[in-house]
Amino acid sequence: MTIQEIDALIVGGGFGGIRLTGLLKNQLQLAKVVAIEKGEGLGGTWYWNKYPGAQSDSESWVYGFSDDVDTPQPTTRYLYADDVQRQLITTAKNTNVLDNYLFENQVVSAHYDTTSSRWHITTDKGFRFAATYFITALGILSKPYIPNFPGIDTFQGVSFHSAGWPKGLNTDGKRVAIIGTGPSGSQITSAIHRSVESLVVFQKRAQYITPVENRALRDEEKDAISRDQAKIWNTVFNSLFAMGFEESNESALNVSEARRREVYEQIWNKGGGFRFFFEAFNDLGIDFTANETAAAFVREKIAEIVKDPQTASILQPTGAYGGRPLCADGYYEAFNNPNVSVVSIADNPISRIIPTGIELQDGTALEFDIIVFATGFDGVDGAYRDVDIRGRNGIRLSDVWQERPNALYGISVAEFPNFFTITGPGSPFANIPPIVEVQGDFVVRLIRELNQRGGRSIEANRDAELKWTELVQAVSRSTVFDKVRSWIQNNNVAGSEKFPVLFLGGLNTYTAKLEEEANIQYPSYQFLD
Ligand code: NAP
Repeated sequence: MTIQEIDALIVGGGFGGIRLTGLLKNQLQLAKVVAIEKGEGLGGTWYWNKYPGAQSDSESWVYGFSDDVDTPQPTTRYLYADDVQRQLITTAKNTNVLDNYLFENQVVSAHYDTTSSRWHITTDKGFRFAATYFITALGILSKPYIPNFPGIDTFQGVSFHSAGWPKGLNTDGKRVAIIGTGPSGSQITSAIHRSVESLVVFQKRAQYITPVENRALRDEEKDAISRDQAKIWNTVFNSLFAMGFEESNESALNVSEARRREVYEQIWNKGGGFRFFFEAFNDLGIDFTANETAAAFVREKIAEIVKDPQTASILQPTGAYGGRPLCADGYYEAFNNPNVSVVSIADNPISRIIPTGIELQDGTALEFDIIVFATGFDGVDGAYRDVDIRGRNGIRLSDVWQERPNALYGISVAEFPNFFTITGPGSPFANIPPIVEVQGDFVVRLIRELNQRGGRSIEANRDAELKWTELVQAVSRSTVFDKVRSWIQNNNVAGSEKFPVLFLGGLNTYTAKLEEEANIQYPSYQFLD
């Protein structure tokens, strides 16, 4: 196919891709912007993750863009996958980017040509582009991870990753296995347990899971959301995790035991994992003693809710309560249903998948019709491994990120000019749409600055990039998260080494850093002719 000469190519049909396509088209007024998405439609995470019960756990009124005034007002406290997808399609229509999308195409290579200062990009369907700017919004959790269980292809029932739930598959009356107890596994458990014949949850590590309390919004709440838009978004952008509530500024260790319990109880009943972790006290994420007070509270709740003491004890987590806070409605209650059980595979792992089901190391074999691998994602930089991205002189991104995936501010990589990685490694850990907004605005500023200086390309300084990753590592070390295995630490996938990939210092701190960078004329960047 002939090469299409364009201004910018953006990859991804989720929050990041839609936002950046709109910004480049509408704010930078670039005439030729092409967006590529491998799915048949928009939605990103919310296009792929259609398992029963899939829902966002950022509250609905802050799970979008602050300037997206024309999307429908939320009617529930949290949004299900279809709701978020619909909202994103509306955003794409409102920002006039639908026509920019080329669907069912996967970018397979993007090579920077130093002579022409252009990116040469190809898709699996043979489309070819030469673009000034190459922007990836691949998503932080878009590459499904299934452990390499022996015999996985021999299973005679239906098996799939949670992000690939077969369209129309009904689990009613079926014998179902769910491997994994993260947000995906726990949401699926809560959603399907009442109608299956049997459900066995295979648990490697018990998790701290709080209730969600999803419900219809009351009229006065809807009124307040409409009325207080400015205040809500001000709270979002001036907080650490951008969830739209006031984060606590009180230590869990500075209050009496009775007061602590009262606070935990109140937020437990209110629902929401992020609220429980960040609205209760200010040191659950940074002080192990404070953290243990919350962990103990959740363990007690599990013992209260789950009637069978042995099941309760399997479900009770040990160790620090950290990583991404989880929540699912009625998760622990599900195990009071006689057809639901949990099998601890901490000391007796899955040895192989057999034609009829799952076999454990001690030889126990269990039969199933359906196996759901809710085993997570090769996060943050994982999706980049499927694209052959090369910067100056053929340097490969996969080599640069082999052991230490990092981009300056999560956005820019030395020797990869005019390349911007939305929510790339080094990005803040917070509510995703506000991160995308902040990063999108910064990319616009970088491109404007480049044009103003009359340069042809912009890229990160190697030293600045290194300094950024050192900061990301240092901040991580000062948190409880650092000691909890998860995709945030890049060590959830078998064989991977711990390397914190997200900035845990908060969106407000991150935004201040970008502001400072702009105010002192972008010293962390190289602008080249
Ligand atoms: P996850 O949190 O990484 O959980 C994966 C699960 O698979 C864990 O329980 C893990 O056990 C288990 N596992 C991994 N390897 C295994 C093996 N070899 N044998 C048995 N079990 C194994 O994945 P996820 O639930 O898909 O969630 C990933 C992220 O997606 C979340 O952190 C969240 O950010 C996002 N998410 C968000 C929502 C929401 O907004 N509501 C919903 C779903 C997902 P270990 O814990 O022992 O490693």
